[in-house]
Amino acid sequence: MADGRPSPHEGPLSPDMEEWDDFLRGRYKQGKSQEEFRQYDAQANPGVARFYRLNHEHQSFDYVIHKEKEYFPLTRGQKSIWEAAEFLNTLVDDSDPDTDLTQIEHLLQTSEAIRADGHPRWFVLAGFIHDLGKILCLWGEPQWGVVGDTFPVGCAFSEHIIFHEYFNENPDLHHPIYSTKYGIYEPNCGLDNVHMSFGHDGYIYEVMKSYLPQEALYMLRYHSFYPAHKHGAYQYLMNDRDREMFRWVSEFNKYDLYSKGHAKPSLKELKPYYDDLFAEFFPKTIAW
Ligand code: FE
Ligand code: FE
Repeated sequence: MADGRPSPHEGPLSPDMEEWDDFLRGRYKQGKSQEEFRQYDAQANPGVARFYRLNHEHQSFDYVIHKEKEYFPLTRGQKSIWEAAEFLNTLVDDSDPDTDLTQIEHLLQTSEAIRADGHPRWFVLAGFIHDLGKILCLWGEPQWGVVGDTFPVGCAFSEHIIFHEYFNENPDLHHPIYSTKYGIYEPNCGLDNVHMSFGHDGYIYEVMKSYLPQEALYMLRYHSFYPAHKHGAYQYLMNDRDREMFRWVSEFNKYDLYSKGHAKPSLKELKPYYDDLFAEFFPKTIAW
């Protein structure tokens, strides 16, 4: 662009998706103090900071509504869960295949850690499914519009959102309604009535909403809503059901963040188990 800023539609792989995942793990390392948490600033993480600058600049109410209309009707064809996972796996772009996991391996590590702890089958399934929405990248969505922390739009941005200062460039920051605490929403209206910044969470929820139990759907839909499940933000938009269900989101988050580094799962050995699991919850193919 003429002003030297990166175009909002620039390539989907900047920064690397792994970089954001690693950043999250560092940010929420167990036992980390508030002081250490603050060290996750722009200087220490220039690639991640640039990513959040783009995210916070462009995730406005109008952008979100536009993307919801584009993707939520699920008009991109039918795929089985394995087909979606294999499609997502083509997103591998890392230069160090020895230490980094493929997308399917991340899904399997998450679901296998859940399974090893004896959780119900729908919870294991949520572990496998949770990042399939990242296939948005393969349909041309920019990285900042697929991953990253999510947050409500149409009301004021919480100061608990990482790199909050980058909202200075968001067109909603000075909007007469969207800039107010409740914006277009009623107090405690429930998150189901709230538009979240667009990304892989909201999209996978739409794909899965007729197949999985509510607890699993909350995990999928809000797993990147770190301002709420890690920092307690936006309580004033939640209703009692949200608060009850967020216990499951927090429970899930441990597995998403901390299952990496366990042994590499063997797809070949595990496939029969997952074939059965998918057949229990889904028809052969579903709409994406
Ligand atoms: Fe995710
Ligand atoms: Fe994940």
